[in-house]
Amino acid sequence: MTDACFCARCHKNFHSDYIVRYISDDDVVYTERDYICTYCGYVNSVYEGEEEAKDWCFTFGFGQKHEGHYHIIRGGREQTKKIMFERFGNKWGFQYSSTEAAGVKRYGLKELK
Ligand SMILES: [Zn+2]
Repeated sequence: MTDACFCARCHKNFHSDYIVRYISDDDVVYTERDYICTYCGYVNSVYEGEEEAKDWCFTFGFGQKHEGHYHIIRGGREQTKKIMFERFGNKWGFQYSSTEAAGVKRYGLKELK
């Protein structure tokens, strides 16, 4: 199935197939639709679970200013993503539902307060 989607990174409208992901977070299972942007390749996730305030873990990409760090913001999924764009523009990598999912220990990432 192809849906119209607005890319959170390059701010273009694109059409893409989606992949449904099931994310287990403690005892709650969330679903996400992942849309791959046909312009920049960014994976846009549309959250379909219940929006509860929680700590989201954001990482930074290779070659970016804060590479090797992670940043925690508490709130809803889309709300915290907007805050990341306000704080860092598009100079960040991915949003994860936990520090475990982000591989904080595995990659030795440091918290950016
Ligand atoms: Zn894009």
